[in-house]
Amino acid sequence: MLVTERERLREELVKLADKYGRDRSGLMSILEEVQRRHFYISEYCMQVIADLLDLHPVEVHSVVSFYSFLNERPQGQFVIRLCRTVSCQMFGKEQLARQLENDLGIRFGETTPDGKFSLHWANCLGMCDQGPALLVNDLVFTEITPEKVHGILQQCRELFGVHATTGGRKVEQVTARTETGPLTFDSVELGAGLAAALAKSPREVLAEIDAAKLRGRGGAGFPTSMKWRMAVEADDEKKYVVCNADEGEPGTFKDRVILADYADLVFEGMTIAAGVIGARRGIVYLRAEYTYLRKHLEEVLGRRRGEGLLGTSVGGRKGFDFDISIHMGAGAYVCGEETALIESLEGQRGEPRNRPPFPIDTGFMGHPTIVNNVETFAWVVCILAKGAQWFKETGTAKSTGSKLFSVSGDCRRPGVYEFPLGITVAQLLEEVGGEDAKAVQVGGASGQCVPAEQFRRTIAFEDVPTGGSVIVFGPKRDMLEVAENFLEFFIDESCGQCTPCREGVPKLIDGVRKLKKGQCSMSYLKELCSLGETLQLASKCGLGQAAPNALLSIAEHFQDEILGRTRAAV
Ligand code: SF4
Repeated sequence: MLVTERERLREELVKLADKYGRDRSGLMSILEEVQRRHFYISEYCMQVIADLLDLHPVEVHSVVSFYSFLNERPQGQFVIRLCRTVSCQMFGKEQLARQLENDLGIRFGETTPDGKFSLHWANCLGMCDQGPALLVNDLVFTEITPEKVHGILQQCRELFGVHATTGGRKVEQVTARTETGPLTFDSVELGAGLAAALAKSPREVLAEIDAAKLRGRGGAGFPTSMKWRMAVEADDEKKYVVCNADEGEPGTFKDRVILADYADLVFEGMTIAAGVIGARRGIVYLRAEYTYLRKHLEEVLGRRRGEGLLGTSVGGRKGFDFDISIHMGAGAYVCGEETALIESLEGQRGEPRNRPPFPIDTGFMGHPTIVNNVETFAWVVCILAKGAQWFKETGTAKSTGSKLFSVSGDCRRPGVYEFPLGITVAQLLEEVGGEDAKAVQVGGASGQCVPAEQFRRTIAFEDVPTGGSVIVFGPKRDMLEVAENFLEFFIDESCGQCTPCREGVPKLIDGVRKLKKGQCSMSYLKELCSLGETLQLASKCGLGQAAPNALLSIAEHFQDEILGRTRAAV
């Protein structure tokens, strides 16, 4: 590189570092912009960024190497990411993968010699109801067929050069789509929840959420009021409200729909939370796969600022100052875990922290932080607008209210649905047209596989819990292929920090591949399950603890199908 080019690049990086306050918490944003402009982050860039942020270059490199959307090697102007998770696999992802490789003349992980295209796998693009799906840079393409692949590549080739200096962005936009009818969210007048909250004291708002018994809609089901109360009681001037918009669980896409169609509710819920705990700053952690939603979200935020619903004296209440910014993820499922998400917000690798301390004590930048799911914030608004009693009238005693479900797989009507918690698996299948299913994976890769003989079980925190993912498997599906797909996902997404997860999950997949070949005895299957149980106990965070779940439930409920292969192979 010529000295003048280096000087120019340094100047550009200085401006970027200044834009983000030369603070480490701006590191991810700086890296994301460099990647976008230059198609990779060179060693020189890493050195300069480290210098400007007062870090060691190794620290910057460790962050770049952690996230799948950041690259140390030059990428093509069009980065194609084909979704490989189970719903897309069920509808022809393998055939499309081979076709992409043939058309481009490269393998996955490679870049064409002319620098036009790079080809990568993606772990769940959140388009499971419209799979197979792929991303071209930031734009999502759904219901991909071989013909569509040709068309997309052709459009990219035609645009190459025109957009070469701006990063070759726009090819085609497929808007978010849902099969759902009206949701409860449609019946809430915008601003009604915040107005009701502003008419109450923070203590009264908290009491309303408490009375509704709202539990987090991200999957863990932690009582929302309990989390908020701990933040209220925390003795600190600075507190934060974080919206976890990093839904990456295979089969989950309801947050995509909420963000696309009900963003006001999410921001209103965050504002109500800020009023309760006394926060002045909110952050939406948006997964990189949903970058195409960012513009819309920024526009909604801008409008809300103009309406006095963000900024100083929110809603006319003197002293209530609160604003929200969007922080982009960079392709790491583990960042959906709240402590990993906070690490990522601080410009670190998204590695889960040891707990305690919990984010509620020591969260973002060491201050009390509540982290709630996108859907949870939207329900907060409904509860304030319609009352705790109204909310409790739906659901069960321990799982109050309704919930959004992302339904995909072998059913006639995939999409986003609202159902009361406590619905049985059989009732859900009837609604979505999946009555002949042999099994349903509830809760995504980390959830449970419910076999047909258990379809009377209820989807609720006290029985089969879920963050919203429901994947339907028809009578002809091979359940070991399902288990293999989920384990591949966990191997790819493991942060590698602890041994049980890093070493154990690859052992599980080796075992599943042996099972697939019919090289299995009952004692081998038991050993494999025992290893899975060890991982559940010994892994550091939810990712490793949940990684064996699908295999264990498939081994339990489909033992005959698995051992039948052995008999067939003999
Ligand atoms: Fe990382 Fe897996 Fe350990 Fe979680 S369980 S800390 S993802 S290695």
